[in-house]
Amino acid sequence: MDYLFPPALQPSVAISGSSQRFPVHRIYCIGRNYADHAKEMGATVDRGNPVFFCKPADAIVADRAQIPYPIGTHDLHHEVEMVVALQSGGVDIAPVHALKHVFGYAVGLDLTRRDLQNIAKSKALPWDSAKAFDRSAPVSAIRRAGESGHPQRAQLALDVNGTPRQQADIADMIFSVAEIIVLLSRLFELKAGDLIFTGTPAGVAPLQRGDRFFARLEGIAELHGAVA
Ligand code: MN
Repeated sequence: MDYLFPPALQPSVAISGSSQRFPVHRIYCIGRNYADHAKEMGATVDRGNPVFFCKPADAIVADRAQIPYPIGTHDLHHEVEMVVALQSGGVDIAPVHALKHVFGYAVGLDLTRRDLQNIAKSKALPWDSAKAFDRSAPVSAIRRAGESGHPQRAQLALDVNGTPRQQADIADMIFSVAEIIVLLSRLFELKAGDLIFTGTPAGVAPLQRGDRFFARLEGIAELHGAVA
């Protein structure tokens, strides 16, 4: 291929216990998927209208990275989330087949420029500049579902500088992993390499320069990082 300039590198995520990497196609996210977080944001949960948004694939940040404090914000927030990695996809996926498309599970942060999101919400504008910015998606190594199964219950937690900030069980998600896959596949053609951030529980708060974070999905994945 005769490209005008070298194409960007393929974003990818490590796989636990493997030298292979998971090539990232797209990053989908669901909002308002834990009732206590929706409540703290002053939002109501409408099961008929799930909130979906995207981040660019190159927003991925590897485990144990130093993340520069993002430009364009004075209120960077953490949102710890379980991340689902797809090995296949399609459109109009049937509920009974949804989990067959899951390669594995990870833990990530849906980093958010909360000040820009609040402005966007107040003016009914899109969330892109609040959510889809550079280095807004730190993600742990992916654990194969073949090893850990499809978790129904698992503690999802985030500590900042050793202090607990967010803690919940993924059993408290309003839309299950299978439901999210079904609903997304009615809006987009899902593909191998897609990642899905499955929403955050209560306790979202600012990250400051110098903060160290430790996110984990019990028995499945751990993510360390810092804001430089
Ligand atoms: Mn989120």
